[in-house]
Amino acid sequence: MGAFGNDLMKHNLDLLRSKARKEAVQGVFIAAAAIMLATLMVCFFEQREITLSGLIQAQRTNLALWILNAMAFVFPLWGQYASRMIVYEAGAMVRHQTEELRVRNDQLEREKAFASTHDPITELPNRPLFYDRVEQAIRSYREGSGNLTLFLLELENLKEIQDTIGPTAVDIILRQVATRLLQSMSAQDSVARLDGFTFGILCSESTGKEQAEHTAHRLQKVMEHHFDVQRLKLSLHTSIGIVLFPEHGEDADTLVQKAGVAVFMAGKSHDGFAFYSPSFDEHSPRRLTLMGELRQAIERNHLQLHYQPKAAIPGGKIIGAEALVRWNHPKHGFVAPDEFIGLAERTRMIKPLTQWVMERAFNDCAQLRGQGHEITVSINLSAKDLHDPQLPDRIVGAMSKTAVQPEWFIFEITESSIIADPDRVLNVLERINGLGFGLSIDDFGTGYSSLAYLSKLPVQELKIDRSFVRGMLLGSKDGVIVRATVQLAHNLNLKVTAEGVENEETLELLRQCQCDIAQGYYLGKPQPLEQLTDRLGQLAARSEVNTG
Ligand code: C2E
Ligand code: CA
Ligand code: CA
Repeated sequence: MGAFGNDLMKHNLDLLRSKARKEAVQGVFIAAAAIMLATLMVCFFEQREITLSGLIQAQRTNLALWILNAMAFVFPLWGQYASRMIVYEAGAMVRHQTEELRVRNDQLEREKAFASTHDPITELPNRPLFYDRVEQAIRSYREGSGNLTLFLLELENLKEIQDTIGPTAVDIILRQVATRLLQSMSAQDSVARLDGFTFGILCSESTGKEQAEHTAHRLQKVMEHHFDVQRLKLSLHTSIGIVLFPEHGEDADTLVQKAGVAVFMAGKSHDGFAFYSPSFDEHSPRRLTLMGELRQAIERNHLQLHYQPKAAIPGGKIIGAEALVRWNHPKHGFVAPDEFIGLAERTRMIKPLTQWVMERAFNDCAQLRGQGHEITVSINLSAKDLHDPQLPDRIVGAMSKTAVQPEWFIFEITESSIIADPDRVLNVLERINGLGFGLSIDDFGTGYSSLAYLSKLPVQELKIDRSFVRGMLLGSKDGVIVRATVQLAHNLNLKVTAEGVENEETLELLRQCQCDIAQGYYLGKPQPLEQLTDRLGQLAARSEVNTG
C-alpha cells in the first residue's frame, strides 16, 4: 500500500477508535445513572424515605449495589478492550481486501498489456513487440560479441489450406507451428508471429553464418513433419529468409525488409532458405528500394489519391468515387498500388499509409461537398488495418481535422481480411459502422465466401469482383453468378456495385440484372481530384440546362 493509502487507513481507524471511545463514555454515564437509581430505590425500600444518610447506608451495606458499582468500571474497560479489538480487525480486513484488489488490478493490467503485444491465436509476441525486441537487441549489441541473426519463416501453402479446409484448421496449424518453433529455439531467442503466415525469429547469441545455416536446417527439420488437423495429415512448405546484424542492416525495419527479400529468394531456391545478399537487388531492385522509400514517400507527399467514379445504373448519375492511391516515384516513375500495398502490409508502413489516405480523402471530400457535389467517397482498408483495435479511434482522429460527416464515406474491406480473425474484425467493423460510416465488401466472390457471416456483418454494399463482371459477356457462368449475387444482396438489403465495367454491353447486362451501381473504365478511369471536379461541374451544368 502506498503512503497515501496508509495515511487514509490510519485516519479511518482513528475515526473508528474515537467513535468507540464516545460509546464507552456514554456507557459510563448510563452505568452511573443506573447506580444512582438503584441506590435511591434501595434507600426508599429500606427506610421508606430518601435521605442522604439513608443513601450512604445503602451504599455501605448493600452487596448488590457493590456489584453494580463495580460494573461501572468493568463495562468501560470491556468497551475499550472490545473497541480496540474491532478496530484492529477492521484494519486487518481492509488491508487484506486492499491487497486482494491490488493483485487483481495488477493481473488485469498484465492481461491487457499481453493482449496488445501478443498474437491472440498463438500467444506469441506480435509484430510491434518483435520489432521492439530486435531494436533492444541492436541497442545492447556490442562489437565482437557475434552477430544477431534474424530469420523470417513463411508458410507458403497455408493460404491454400485455409481456402480448402477453413480458418479454424489453420488456427490449429498455427498453434502447432508456434509450439514447434519455440521448442527448437533456446529460451534467449525470440519467436514471434508477424502476420498471417509469417513468423520471425531473433537469435541474439549467434556466432555467424555457419551457425545460422545450422539453425535454418533445424527449423526446416521441425517443420518437415506433417501436421495433424481434423484427422488429416498436412504438410507445410516453408521458406526461410535470413539476415545478419550488423552486416545487412542497422535497424529493425531494414533487417525485416531484407529478410522479406531473402524469403522471396528462398521460395525460388532449391534449399528452401536463403541469406540476404545485395545481389538479390538485381532480381528485385524495386521491391527492395521501394520498401525503404515508402515512409519517405508518405512524409514527403509523393503519394497521390486518384478517384474513380461510381455511377448509378439507371440514370448514370455519378453518386460516388473510390479513392485509389498512386505513387509517383522520382526514379521508378509510376508505381502501381498492387506492388506497394502488399509491401506496406508486410512492414509497418500500412498504418501510416492508411492514415495518409484517410486524411487526404476526408480533405478532398470536404472540398467536393463545399462545391456542391454530393458524392460519397470510398476508401480501401487493408486486412492489417482491420486487425488494429485502435482503427476506429484513428478514423475519428483523422475526421476531427476536417469538417466532414461519416455518412459521406464508405470503407471497403475484403472477405479475406475478415476470415483471419472474425471476432476481432467484427468488433472493429461494428464500431466504425456505429460512428456512421458505410461499409462495403470489396472483390466479392474471390475470397473464402461464407454466406453465413455475410448476414452478420454490418455492411451496406457488395462490390462484385471485376473477374465475374468481365466474364458476363462471354456467356459463361459468370453472368449467372452476378445475377444471383445481386438478388442475394438485395434480399439482405445491400446495394451492389459491379467493378471493372469496360463497355456498354456489360453495362446493359448489369442493368438487366438490376445491379445498382457501376464502376469501371467505361464510366471513368481513376483520375486526379481536379479532373473529377471538372467532370462533376460539367455534368451539373448540363443537368441545369436539361432541367432548366
Ligand atoms: P480495388 O480496390 O479492387 O480497386 C480497383 C482496381 O481496379 C483499381 O486498380 C482500378 O484502377 C482498377 N480498375 C478500375 N476499373 C477497371 C476496369 O474497368 N478494368 C480493369 N481492368 N481495371 C479496373 P488500382 O488502382 O491499381 O488498385 C489496385 C488495388 O490496390 C485496389 O484494388 C486495392 O485493393 C489496392 N488499393 C488501391 N488504393 C488503396 C489504398 O488507398 N489503400 C489500400 N489499403 N489499398 C489500396
Ligand atoms: Ca476497392
Ligand atoms: Ca475491388
